[in-house]
Amino acid sequence: MKRSIQHGLSFVRFPHRLCAALALCIALPCSAAYIIVDTGHTPQHPGATGASGRVEYRYNLDLSAAVTKDLQDHGDRVLRTSADGREIALQDRSTAAPDANFFISIHHDSIQQAWIDAGRQREFRGYSIFVSQRNPHYEQSLRCAKAIGERMLAAGEKPSLYHATPIHGENRPLIDERLGIHRFDDLVVLKTAPMPAVLVEAGVIVNPDEEARLAQPDTIAHLAHAIADGVDACQAH
Ligand SMILES: [Zn+2]
Repeated sequence: MKRSIQHGLSFVRFPHRLCAALALCIALPCSAAYIIVDTGHTPQHPGATGASGRVEYRYNLDLSAAVTKDLQDHGDRVLRTSADGREIALQDRSTAAPDANFFISIHHDSIQQAWIDAGRQREFRGYSIFVSQRNPHYEQSLRCAKAIGERMLAAGEKPSLYHATPIHGENRPLIDERLGIHRFDDLVVLKTAPMPAVLVEAGVIVNPDEEARLAQPDTIAHLAHAIADGVDACQAH
């Protein structure tokens, strides 16, 4: 009985999803890609702390959930890493599905401690995108970074650019200033991914104004659309 109820439910739900995917395939080139969506950090090691005290992992979790839903709505298959709250090593994220077509890691940003100590938090805002030249699919990674950057700009987001500041701890070479794309060759998830890979810092949560905006459902939705549309636009058809 239980089995037939479950089967019945999946029967009701499946055609709906299939129709949505098929409708998109007719309207747009159908990607049907297999994507790893990584939630940066873990609850135990949650990354940056926002101005309000809410930690980065929570922001990453909300945005990666929205990106996953958008990709699935486009007909893609998605594997989420670090969304279940358990500890996971960096390279276990990027190698979780060797047959995936693309890996994207979602983060939110901090700034240098010296800038925080100087009370400069409100000077920093915006997104940044990273690729590694040590990834075996660097050119494709960069194509995807550009596709995402174009859509972030179109959504009204601005690149932060401060990671290019020529100081210790920053100094990330800017590949594309207009789109906010940097090279960061030693980022573990990017250099160990066997597929094209990009890391997105969606915004600066140590800036209290920016943090409040990044917590808004509307902001999460438009960031997720920009990221998911960019990911799908750069997949081979
Ligand atoms: Zn992070």
